[in-house]
Amino acid sequence: MSTESLIPVKEQRDPETTTLTIEQETNPWEAQASRFDFAARKLNLDPGLWKVLRYPTREVIVHFPVGLDDGSVEVFTGYRVQHSIARGPGKGGIRYAPDVSLDEVRALASWMTWKCAVVNIPFGGAKGGVICDPKKMSQGELERMTRRYTAELIEFIGPEKDVPAPDVGTDEQTMAWIMDTYSMHMRQTVTSVVTGKPVNIGGSRGRREATGRGVSVVCDQAIKYLDMSIDGCRVIVQGFGNVGSNSAKILAEKGYTIIGIAEYDGGLFNSKGINIPDLLAHRKAAGTINGFPGAEAVDKDDLLTYPCEILIPAATENVITSRNADRIRCRILCEGANGPTTTVADEILADKRVFIIPDILANAGGVTTSYFEWVQDRMGYFWTEAEVNHRLDTIMSESFKDVVNYAKTHSVNNRIAAYMLAIDRVAYTTKQRGFYA
Ligand code: GLU
Repeated sequence: MSTESLIPVKEQRDPETTTLTIEQETNPWEAQASRFDFAARKLNLDPGLWKVLRYPTREVIVHFPVGLDDGSVEVFTGYRVQHSIARGPGKGGIRYAPDVSLDEVRALASWMTWKCAVVNIPFGGAKGGVICDPKKMSQGELERMTRRYTAELIEFIGPEKDVPAPDVGTDEQTMAWIMDTYSMHMRQTVTSVVTGKPVNIGGSRGRREATGRGVSVVCDQAIKYLDMSIDGCRVIVQGFGNVGSNSAKILAEKGYTIIGIAEYDGGLFNSKGINIPDLLAHRKAAGTINGFPGAEAVDKDDLLTYPCEILIPAATENVITSRNADRIRCRILCEGANGPTTTVADEILADKRVFIIPDILANAGGVTTSYFEWVQDRMGYFWTEAEVNHRLDTIMSESFKDVVNYAKTHSVNNRIAAYMLAIDRVAYTTKQRGFYA
């Protein structure tokens, strides 16, 4: 056998010495891979394990027909990537969006592996996606698309194989349809095949708010670590979906001042603090945050550069790039979204001494409570919301401490520390299991 490296030359580039084009900079797979390589090098990772952990274990691509409401048929493309199943079943959300791509799903699947390892829960990493525009589809169309996508993946998912969950563009209802479709094929109800379900059909109390709650816990920890105070701590949140709105709501309840909300269709600013329950009520009635009387309308992109103590990107990838990083004026960047900061932006933020709470730690509250849901489903015994939240707080606080301690001990930044900690854990398990060949 040839001993030549299997890693394509393009991907062997040294992230420290090569300049990236904006396309490369914003390719989520490139972003994930360059951080992985950097952390693996720091860990002195065995070259064989390096190759094993760098690439996904399985990538499934499906093209499937769905009858639309007007009587026509459309063919949709869907993905499910399982990056690693070394530490347990694959785990990760399903994304419905027009710009879903294999590279994106791959990156998101790898991030799930690292995320589950950072918080030390017994899952590998996976992610799914369907190229579609859920905002333009009826409930009936979404249901038929979800059921057929599930049926196409039937032999690849399962409570012990790969457990999907909500992500951008999917929600509790989507999970209910997946659970039902899978159960129909299995001829029995299998609640633990997905997490993020409605509470009455095996969902966990606290799951809906869990990512936002986790974000608030790591913010509390960062404030303490940096000797700052919640009193007068100004927060700007980008994205007002599940993660952004719950982060804002819980942080406001804890006494933080939410001065800005940036959504895809507009921004809001109030130096005295935005009343989040009022804004949620306005959004429910108006369908948008725009026109909210309790704040001033501002440019959504400019808002990211307003001075604040904590900035929380909580929507999608590539929000902080080489194009705006030098204008960011926060002390703490808490990544509620997956991959919101590019590698180039990371370097610029490091020069500005921004304290980053990296995505694979900051937004791990969602998957941690998904783990609780999976456990409760398998036990058939359900916890109170207080029990769920207490366990979540403990895991998130401990994980924050693990990452910052690792960063100190190894003289690396928080992001690289989180990757190193995660890679070390997955590599250890992989090595211990050995290779079946
Ligand atoms: N989609 C969420 C994430 O990116 C949740 C995944 C899960 O609960 O499995 O972390």
